[in-house]
Amino acid sequence: MFNKTIIAALLATVATTATAADCEYGEHDITITAADSAVFDLACGGAIKAIQIFEDDLGYDKLTYTVDVNIEDEVYYLKPGDPDYRVFGIYDTKIKSIQVSSPTTDYAKERFVFIADQADKTTGLAMTDELWASIVTHEVSHSITDQIWIDNGGLNRSEKLGGGAQEFVAYIVQLMSLSDETREQVLNQYPDVDEGFDNKMKLNSLYHMHFPHKYGVIAYNTFTATGTAWIQEIMNGDLDPDLKFTNGTY
Ligand SMILES: [Zn+2]
Repeated sequence: MFNKTIIAALLATVATTATAADCEYGEHDITITAADSAVFDLACGGAIKAIQIFEDDLGYDKLTYTVDVNIEDEVYYLKPGDPDYRVFGIYDTKIKSIQVSSPTTDYAKERFVFIADQADKTTGLAMTDELWASIVTHEVSHSITDQIWIDNGGLNRSEKLGGGAQEFVAYIVQLMSLSDETREQVLNQYPDVDEGFDNKMKLNSLYHMHFPHKYGVIAYNTFTATGTAWIQEIMNGDLDPDLKFTNGTY
């Protein structure tokens, strides 16, 4: 893990100088590190979309967000007892930084998203640029939620929001970022789910981990049924039934 991190950091330094472009939106401080310009543009677009949805659709337009996205060849989740637990993307609250697996890697190209059957990873949608960018949007949403949550009108909270509530918001923003056509394909992956959560207690990490992608679609259906009400409750600190299993990464 340590050597991999060092090598990734060195590569990231090279990539920064190789990619002279900026990713700019309003007054926000967006940093994207990617080895090639096409990937940079895709990631930049995904990050800006997240900010636009929070500001324009969810009403969180008071803060200046700091977003740090690093596109890597390999991304690992710090899972106790399993140092090689590879993931697609991650937001780490401790270093306020996002890592996403590059779309140029075989790992990303061969991965399916929004898996219909949790036991069969090939039952998902094939990866596309749009879906890859939406994963950046998802991770950036975790970062923005973290910043809104910590601030909450100057509260400067130190405790972490539960993983279930975090994922609820991130999946809603991710699905909102998709074209109508692609979103329809995602929703059609789960024909048995056409309503949102029937119980707020289901916004917890265990329920999310049981079937993450389906959890995301139920979250989105909750949003279409109830609007921003649950998101406001989460941000205000009135809705977080989680058992606090989070280690600070989402
Ligand atoms: Zn997530």
